[in-house]
Amino acid sequence: MAANEVYDITIIGGGPVGLYGLYYAGLRKMKAKIIEALPEFGGQVTALYPEKFIYDVAGFPAILGRDLVKEQVEQGLQYDPTVCLGEKVLELKRVDDDHFQLIGENGKHLSKTVVIAGGVGAFTLRHISTPGLNELEGKGVYYVVKRVEEFRDKRVLIVGGGDTALDWAIGLEHLAKKITLSHRLDEWQGHEDTIDKVYRSSVNVLFPHYEMKQVHGKDRVEGVTMVQIKTKETFDLEMDAIIVNVGFIANLGPIAEWGLELEKRHIVVNFKMETNLKGVYGAGDIITHPSKLNLIAQGYGEIAAAVNLSKNYIDPKQRVQPQHSTHMKKEELGEAIQKKLGEEKTSLTGGDVAQFVLGMEREKAKFYQQAAPKVGRKEVEEAFKKIFQEEEEHCRTLESEILPKFQSGDYTWNNEMGEKLRIRLERSVTLPAPEKDGALSPEEALKMGLQAEEEVIGLCRKAASAVQPTEGSLAFRRLAEADAVHLQIFKGLMQKDSI
Ligand SMILES: Cc1cc2nc3c(=O)[nH]c(=O)nc-3n(C[C@H](O)[C@H](O)[C@H](O)COP(=O)(O)OP(=O)(O)OC[C@H]3O[C@@H](n4cnc5c(N)ncnc54)[C@H](O)[C@@H]3O)c2cc1C
Repeated sequence: MAANEVYDITIIGGGPVGLYGLYYAGLRKMKAKIIEALPEFGGQVTALYPEKFIYDVAGFPAILGRDLVKEQVEQGLQYDPTVCLGEKVLELKRVDDDHFQLIGENGKHLSKTVVIAGGVGAFTLRHISTPGLNELEGKGVYYVVKRVEEFRDKRVLIVGGGDTALDWAIGLEHLAKKITLSHRLDEWQGHEDTIDKVYRSSVNVLFPHYEMKQVHGKDRVEGVTMVQIKTKETFDLEMDAIIVNVGFIANLGPIAEWGLELEKRHIVVNFKMETNLKGVYGAGDIITHPSKLNLIAQGYGEIAAAVNLSKNYIDPKQRVQPQHSTHMKKEELGEAIQKKLGEEKTSLTGGDVAQFVLGMEREKAKFYQQAAPKVGRKEVEEAFKKIFQEEEEHCRTLESEILPKFQSGDYTWNNEMGEKLRIRLERSVTLPAPEKDGALSPEEALKMGLQAEEEVIGLCRKAASAVQPTEGSLAFRRLAEADAVHLQIFKGLMQKDSI
């Protein structure tokens, strides 16, 4: 990446909102770059709640933070943008009518437009100063939950009254031995339905006006004295862990010095997501406007608008309104498949891809069949045996329904790809090693299965987008869905594994 290379759009911040913007920039064929201060994508989701379920992102009744980020990274990177991770942007200035210069920790970046999706900037978690609490941070006191397994069979006190505290109370209810939720105010700050769920659960709710008075424990949390603030009544609870969710303090960092109009540490944007600097847009938690909600869902809409408007800003002849993604040319989807498989585009037929998927399903079936007796854990063995049968069924569907449809011309494909490429594709995908000799550890076997399933699911989903008519598309999608169930089974078994 040359320092003087000019990008159409540079997105500052690789949280959920920035990642969605990156996808949209690719869809609009913009030369895009993303710069993220942290070493990995995902913003607050990765840093603060990778193992919490998110219930309010469209299309997912419940999705783990970590899984949402994973899907978004796949979506966001599919058009090969330039990615700069672990680099904070320190300065932003206009160098001439057409360009901005950004100075990052690792060098200079030139861009025609900029979208700031910096979230809450550099954030620090708000701490509380109950006697005995902060001395035990890392020894039973948590301000961030990164691994839910740490709470298995523990007595856990959750402090806070917002959605995060409420979500954790529900999320950990069945894993922990006992959950107590305490809130010091006389009103909850979370969603109404989440509050109802907490009251319907087995969570012991201390509300209103309860707070910790003293945390006990020498090397680890052992208990806590609680106080009812109004009545001054105190009582002791035995406790193994305390999770404090009382928000965080946002700090815009260098962004505050870029000449942007700010209001209470947020960037002011108009209804077009424009900041006061022409060509610089904002989206996500970092912005403010009259209908602002700090929700991932709203950030997606904001950045879609920002990216489409920046396209029109660079060249006013370009439409603001994008084509619907489902109208994308079939050739592009074919290219996407080939890109995933790490190949130069020559030609691609649907039959080739179906044949390739069939090869993968056969490999998987063989692996599950051979690995089952070697894993030495009953549940994994049984799951593998069952999944082996299902993979065989998938092979039959591919052989008897999907491939003949391609041969008879009932299914059409976007472009063509030769035999040579197909063989090379097979080599580019990581498959488990079914012939592996000797015993397999259940963890190793599950990891292999997981990896192979993920490969095939990704391939089937892309194939579903490239095949016509709908019936053909559905056939691939059903395969992807059936294999996605295997993923869930493996994940469940892996979680049990780490007990
Ligand atoms: C505990 C918790 C639970 C939540 N639960 C939900 C939920 O269930 N549903 C929901 O919709 N929302 C939830 N939220 C809110 C949600 O996480 C945010 O709305 C969302 O993360 C905002 O995304 P973003 O991309 O705008 O910002 P962020 O996720 O904050 O990402 C911004 C990124 O920008 C980077 N950055 C900042 N400054 C710079 C710079 N100068 N240079 C380079 N990079 C920079 C940061 O490092 C960060 O990675 C929750 C938040 C918390 C804290």
